Amino acid sequence: MLRPIVKLGDKGLQTPALPVTDFDESLHTLIDDMIQTMYAAPGIGLAAPQVGVPLRVCVIDLSIGKRDGEVITLVNPEFVERSGLILEEEGCLSLPGFQATVARPHHAVVKGQDRDGREVVVEGEGLLARALQHELDHLEGRLFLDRLRSLQRDAIVKKIRKMRRSGRW
Ligand SMILES: [Zn+2]
Repeated sequence: MLRPIVKLGDKGLQTPALPVTDFDESLHTLIDDMIQTMYAAPGIGLAAPQVGVPLRVCVIDLSIGKRDGEVITLVNPEFVERSGLILEEEGCLSLPGFQATVARPHHAVVKGQDRDGREVVVEGEGLLARALQHELDHLEGRLFLDRLRSLQRDAIVKKIRKMRRSGRW
């Protein structure tokens, strides 16, 4: 089932998510819905707070469903390692229409659990490293905006406020 994606202005996007303790049917439904919603958007990553669920769950698929077996599901993920630094343009399904250049480590290793609670380790470089960091940021209540210089951040927030006033956000 597709779930609506919340946008900047929703408080849940700026609140740290809670650890998952029950690897039950409702978690599996949430994960399946998130994958479906990510593909439909379309996007390469989605975190549970973006569909209004305050849990530490995210999904990533750089192929957006075009290649089998590329979807990564991470429950309770945390960084094991980060290194390097690279500047790339980044966007977010909760900030449709906005992109900015964000500095991120080039390489990241994340440890977490899969949908059944088994330990998984994901290692990524380039775009995958960026997606991992973007999604883990969501689980801390952080958006890519929070990684921009304040001048740049304020300019985007101002535009969104204006859009909201005129009912376009
Ligand atoms: Zn995002």
